[in-house]
Amino acid sequence: MPATASATPALAEHATQARAAGPADRRRHVVVIGAGIVGTVCAIEMLRSGRQVTLLNPHAPAGEEATSYGNAGWLSSHSILPPAGPGMWKQVPGYLLDPQGPLTVRWGYLPRALPWLWRFLRSGRTPAHVARTAHALRQLLRDAPALHARLASEAGVPHLVAQRGLLHAYRSRADFEADALGWRLRGEEGIAFETVEGASLRAQEPDLASAYGFGVRVAEAGHCANPGAYLAALVAHAQSLGARWVTGQATGLHIEAGRLHAVRTDQGDLPCQGAVIAAGAYSRPLARAAGDRVWLDTERGYHAMLDVQARAGERPPAGPRTSTMVMDRKLIVHQMAHGLRVAGQVEIAGLHAAPDWRRARILLGHLFDLYPSLPRAALEDGARFWMGRRPSTSDGLPCIGPASACADVIHAYGHGHVGLGASARTGRVVAQCMDGQPPEIDLAPFRPQRWRR
Ligand SMILES: Cc1cc2nc3c(=O)[nH]c(=O)nc-3n(C[C@H](O)[C@H](O)[C@H](O)COP(=O)(O)OP(=O)(O)OC[C@H]3O[C@@H](n4cnc5c(N)ncnc54)[C@H](O)[C@@H]3O)c2cc1C
Repeated sequence: MPATASATPALAEHATQARAAGPADRRRHVVVIGAGIVGTVCAIEMLRSGRQVTLLNPHAPAGEEATSYGNAGWLSSHSILPPAGPGMWKQVPGYLLDPQGPLTVRWGYLPRALPWLWRFLRSGRTPAHVARTAHALRQLLRDAPALHARLASEAGVPHLVAQRGLLHAYRSRADFEADALGWRLRGEEGIAFETVEGASLRAQEPDLASAYGFGVRVAEAGHCANPGAYLAALVAHAQSLGARWVTGQATGLHIEAGRLHAVRTDQGDLPCQGAVIAAGAYSRPLARAAGDRVWLDTERGYHAMLDVQARAGERPPAGPRTSTMVMDRKLIVHQMAHGLRVAGQVEIAGLHAAPDWRRARILLGHLFDLYPSLPRAALEDGARFWMGRRPSTSDGLPCIGPASACADVIHAYGHGHVGLGASARTGRVVAQCMDGQPPEIDLAPFRPQRWRR
């Protein structure tokens, strides 16, 4: 399609600006493909380093379509373990047979998912594999609460990010000890945690079901009180720093002689000298257009929200005092600014299947089990459900770094379960890559080319 044939006025304006940029100022104009939390933070960091930035996204800013809208809000600098640890494959049949379990596979999608799933289950097959992933993720997540607190403050929403610690709830000490490898590796990465048991846990979490008798508190971790509102504020902040918003979908890249000339979109070409692929779970075809085959699929997840809110000066009627991950049910319960959220589930069903709201109802059932004093009859009918697509690589590490076909294109997707937390440092290192500067962390584990033989 000719660049200007169907271009909107906004795109025509971009074309003029791109032509005006001199050859000495390569990568002056960067298009960020995807305005989830990762793309938006990349945009802010590149604006800081003096670039002209366009955010390209198919939907209005911070809408429910972005996975960043509805996550559990954990800024967990300690979430450094790959989703699949040693021996996890042995638990998979049990999960799949349990109708209330945390994992489900749509059988029609299984043949397509199998090669990814096989790699995914093998990625943490030995303690050494888990340790390597943990070390890499720690570099990305270290300081996440502080980095987000700074971003939130700059964006005028400091109240949305807090560093108040997070809790992992186990039924018993024995269950905690069964997770010893993970906690040992966290300790080796310098993460401090304290355990709390029996009456002490009861005193701290009086509403939590008594079946849970053991907790682990991680004080350095933080949380976000409304991920959708936070994303909206960051997009507005990027715009206030000069970012332009284009509603549209990237369909490809115009690369010639190793240089980027435009991002192809369903609205026409968007001329630019740099691009960041940050389309979350939808990034694979764009990665291919940039010369890289990546093992990216989606682990879909759900949330249910209840209208449980603190009135001025009061506590909500029931729920966690500290945002809590319930370890055997693999879900997070978090008192958000706008209601009580339970989030979790992994559904392997690809990008395009309709949501299966039974998965969100399962979460809701768990929530009422876990906090029996919640007034179920009054709350259940008003529950709101959401489904999102975690962008998940087969080895549990995101893809960050320059593309093979052209160094003007930087990959920034695949953050799986930790994209909210990890977005802050990802934005910084993407801006450093775009500037041709050495990144502040070692990007070798995140190379998009790492699956090449
Ligand atoms: C239930 C659940 C709970 C979670 N809890 C947490 C948590 O507590 N803490 C945490 O750190 N992480 C959590 N996550 C993970 C986190 O939400 C994701 O890792 C993160 O949101 C990914 O951000 P992203 O910007 O890469 O993708 P997205 O937020 O999905 O944004 C990608 C954007 O790209 C757009 N796009 C797609 N295709 C194109 C195209 N061709 N052209 C232009 N734009 C395109 C999409 O519309 C979207 O707006 C959770 C996820 C789920 C599902």
